[in-house]
Amino acid sequence: AVGEGGDRVCFHSELQSQKEQRKLRLEQDLRYALERNELQVYYQQQCCESEFISAAEALLRWQHPDLGMIPPDEFIELAEQSGQIIEIGEWVLQQACEQVKSWNREGRRMGVAINVSVKQLVVPQFVDSVKEVLALTKVDPSLIEFELTESMLMENLEAGKQAMLKIKAMGVRFAIDDFGTGHSSLAYLSQLPFDVLKIDHSFVKQLPRDPHYCKVTKAILSLAKNLGLTVVAEGVEQQEQMRWLRRHGCDLMQGYLLGKPVSVPEFRKLLALQPVV
Ligand code: C2E
Ligand code: CA
Ligand code: CA
Ligand code: CA
Repeated sequence: AVGEGGDRVCFHSELQSQKEQRKLRLEQDLRYALERNELQVYYQQQCCESEFISAAEALLRWQHPDLGMIPPDEFIELAEQSGQIIEIGEWVLQQACEQVKSWNREGRRMGVAINVSVKQLVVPQFVDSVKEVLALTKVDPSLIEFELTESMLMENLEAGKQAMLKIKAMGVRFAIDDFGTGHSSLAYLSQLPFDVLKIDHSFVKQLPRDPHYCKVTKAILSLAKNLGLTVVAEGVEQQEQMRWLRRHGCDLMQGYLLGKPVSVPEFRKLLALQPVV
């Protein structure tokens, strides 16, 4: 038994050090990822009632030359720690705005939702860089939406709110991402100038079978409606989840059921299947 325990400790620490090594490698390589053109923006559709694509969420991908595709959950945090998120975030913003313009030229009025780290939001120059990108790309600001997660915002409430107000004045919209997973008080949230609420996929996953989650989700929907927010459900994977959400007034659906995040050329193919409106 002692030997077994010892092995386990050894195995555990080996795994641990493998993880640490990978993290170190990613940390180092991330510094050059942008200049080496290894980052890419994928797009995932958001659909309304008609199941036409009405908007897309921009999701970052890192194609590492040796390690393959690295998911954002593995490198965004590293970028936040190193401060690189500022530079990467600006790049994503620029890419997404140019993409919206490019869809515009093809006759599509498509909005884009961009994930913004609160670390980015509270840096004083962020507001200026948003203004600059909007001016440079001449994109209609009402087609741009910034997604912020509630937990990080709570730690930077005042600075976050000030930046939000300035950016909102430019016509950009804001969404609360992963709603329901943080511990924020609704009193706080309702004081922030949000336009959209995204119900976290951990809620959607339990619909429509789990009565408790149904109740909570209904409460979120009615709260959002009372605050005048548009509601997007994320992680919609099943037909019955979509039906339930529609029946209860959810405005937009996003998830594998409708489509996974895809590269720009693949997204273009999806758009081509839709009538120009
Ligand atoms: P998120 O903002 O909550 O994005 C939704 C995540 O759920 C995406 O993962 C998406 O691919 C995934 N997803 C979409 N539909 C489904 C579904 O039906 N089922 C399941 N199981 N998952 C689904 P992804 O692309 O790996 O991104 C992970 C997180 O990384 C994002 O979570 C976001 O917080 C962060 N992220 C991605 N791109 C950026 C970026 O440009 N900037 C910043 N700051 N964060 C980003
Ligand atoms: Ca998001
Ligand atoms: Ca989310
Ligand atoms: Ca998330």
